[in-house]
Amino acid sequence: MSQRIYLSPPHMGGDEIKFVQEAFDTNWVSPVGPNIDAFERELATLAGSGGAVALSSGTAAIHLALVMLGVSSGDEVICQSFTFSGSCNPILYQGATPVFIDSEEQTWNMDPALLEEAIVDRLKKGKRPKAIIVVDLYGMPARLSAIKSIADQYEIPLIEDAAEALGSSYLGKPCGTWGLFGIYSFNGNKIITTSGGGALISDHDAYLKKAKFLSTQARDPAPHYQHSEVGFNYRLSNVCAGIGRGQLAVLSERVALRRAIFDRYREGLADWSVEFLAEPDGSFCNRWLTTLIFTDAQAPQAVRIALEAQNIESRPLWKPMHLQPVFAHAVSYSTGVSERLFNTGLCLPSGSALTPAEQHQILDVIRQTLV
Ligand SMILES: *Cc1c(COP(=O)(O)O)cnc(C)c1O
Repeated sequence: MSQRIYLSPPHMGGDEIKFVQEAFDTNWVSPVGPNIDAFERELATLAGSGGAVALSSGTAAIHLALVMLGVSSGDEVICQSFTFSGSCNPILYQGATPVFIDSEEQTWNMDPALLEEAIVDRLKKGKRPKAIIVVDLYGMPARLSAIKSIADQYEIPLIEDAAEALGSSYLGKPCGTWGLFGIYSFNGNKIITTSGGGALISDHDAYLKKAKFLSTQARDPAPHYQHSEVGFNYRLSNVCAGIGRGQLAVLSERVALRRAIFDRYREGLADWSVEFLAEPDGSFCNRWLTTLIFTDAQAPQAVRIALEAQNIESRPLWKPMHLQPVFAHAVSYSTGVSERLFNTGLCLPSGSALTPAEQHQILDVIRQTLV
């Protein structure tokens, strides 16, 4: 059987090994070192944010943002429902309660009108939400200016989960920079990777300092180990940061490749009853994963199984959080949009190293299944 085609495998640029070798040569094989500092500087410059803190995962970054906002037991945090569980699990780590908001049709992200409705309703019930977590799913920017205006109007801090949206922007402003905090993920399946890792970005020095402090076990200045706060072991290793430096250098090429892959899928299926997520005016999407919606209800599963038979990985869209067993009792404001997307959509192999020949093979399988 031919080699498996994965959904979104790592794609090294070449220089990663140089930075990793440097880490070994200088013995900075630890969660401190020059690669971490440089990676943070380079990422902050690229994102146009005041600074960045390199962490062990995107989930850890969201967790630290919630900790710094003082989210604790009994609090409510608003979160986009159509997302990966890493967006909202940290709410539970803090003993707080998620309130899920459904998506709107055009971007598949948080519906601003529904967000406002939910805030008004929570306030009426005497529950002031402590934070809002908006997601740029599949790299598509959410309606960030509308969401930000609502967050500002009700004075609720905004966290932008841009785990999938490094390299995307909205109205020329990079995804990740729209809230008080932005987060990125460098997990192995993301547009660039550190093998596993994440980052928190912010324009506020005090928050960046605090995040570094909390991510390194909250150690007070003293010769012995002194702690007046609960900390976490969330720092990125200097070896992984070396991989990240090599990857950041090729990010714009990776975005161009993923966008070309999207265009090829769209052209290849132009005459078929499928829909692709379009870029609204002002949005620039990194096209982390090409996703499509089938008109025929049976098609997503049929196509997935047909691809699997050819050793090609594809995957249903994210299952909305308000439909997950673990969140069965959570409050949610839903319209059915994300549920419909989940039932009718599919993610196609979108790795930036995917060849046109492989893509033609995938397109052939899809077309043969849709006949
Ligand atoms: C990957 C991802 C995360 C979590 O990132 P990790 O680095 O895997 O912890 C959070 N939110 C979204 C939308 C993601 O895709």
